[in-house]
Amino acid sequence: MSSTTGTTTVITNIASLVTNDPSLGDGSPLGLIQDAAVVIEGDRIAWTGDSRKAPATDNRVDAGGRAVIPGFVDSHSHLVFAGDRTQEFNARMSGRGYTAGGIRTTVAATRAASDEDLERNLTHYLHEALRQGTTTFETKSGYGLTVEDEARALRIAAAHTDEVTYLGAHIVSPDYADDPAAYVALVTGEMLDACAPYARWIDVFCEKGAFDGDQARAILTAGTAKGLHPRVHANQLSYGPGVQLAVELDAASADHCTHLTDADVEALANGRTVATLLPGAEFSTRAEWPDARRLLDAGVTVALSTDCNPGSSFTSSVPFCIALAVRDMGMTPDEAVWSATAGGAAALRRTDIGRLTVGARADLALLDAPSHVHLAYRPGVPLVTGVWRRGAREV
Ligand SMILES: [Zn+2]
Repeated sequence: MSSTTGTTTVITNIASLVTNDPSLGDGSPLGLIQDAAVVIEGDRIAWTGDSRKAPATDNRVDAGGRAVIPGFVDSHSHLVFAGDRTQEFNARMSGRGYTAGGIRTTVAATRAASDEDLERNLTHYLHEALRQGTTTFETKSGYGLTVEDEARALRIAAAHTDEVTYLGAHIVSPDYADDPAAYVALVTGEMLDACAPYARWIDVFCEKGAFDGDQARAILTAGTAKGLHPRVHANQLSYGPGVQLAVELDAASADHCTHLTDADVEALANGRTVATLLPGAEFSTRAEWPDARRLLDAGVTVALSTDCNPGSSFTSSVPFCIALAVRDMGMTPDEAVWSATAGGAAALRRTDIGRLTVGARADLALLDAPSHVHLAYRPGVPLVTGVWRRGAREV
């Protein structure tokens, strides 16, 4: 199904509408409107408000007293990959720890895969995410780690999303195990030149066993010089320089933020960098949860995303992450839904998505529930029953 520009559709009889505009409805950050309607014109939101006052439109959809929320903005995933790490997960759940090294397994499988296999795998998981309400996704390279394989991953990703991140610095390529400096030179040189045309962002896994602070700075600075914007895998497995480096370089997002000092939290609170929390990773590695409450209380902008990848967080479900964030990270249901929509948009420095306000992109999800709170209240239940993206109904 697709909508022609200018065609208007009203979704009416919405019990509870999340707009993420605090000037609307109840005045909360979610801008909740009860008994609401939304008008879509072409690919944009044209009107929101009281259901009884909705203007006449070409088409009409009755929400039947259910909730509508902005489509989820999943600002962190790794979906250009091949292979499977079931055995590693099984072993970990039987007592073994997680280190950055397991990535090598996926690198070998990804290099061996055809373009068609990688694209088929990517679109499979993108569709899976769409069915669960995700209307915008970011995805990365990072399982190729050669000039050709990284550029190929980004070319395939760019065919399906405009939020593409160059992550040649995921780990030091096994081919350069004895000479990490030469690998950093490749990532900041020939590989960057080949990858930059397909990407908007540059990322680095700043962690023991991956890249240290000096290497991360060199990589992000080289990317910035090529017109890419930084984001950082920071402070996931241990304390380290990633978060402060991200803030210093005005990265859009510092992702994971599981091990933070007070100075790290203060830096995030005083900068523009969003803290993106990825509880699927802690769930799937039985690791300590990031403390969302601490960040929110300090005034940090928090995003919530899946980190969908075959090694450490193989879930494409934002609703699952919302439930974890509420149950185990100290977030309220309102905060978790905001972070998975408007927060994700902030982590991608986007203002046209993550909200349902006049002029925003018509990306929205209809829940089989009267309220967004059910996303945490009814964990594991597939509540997303309708999805519109760019004004077209896709689910
Ligand atoms: Zn990641």
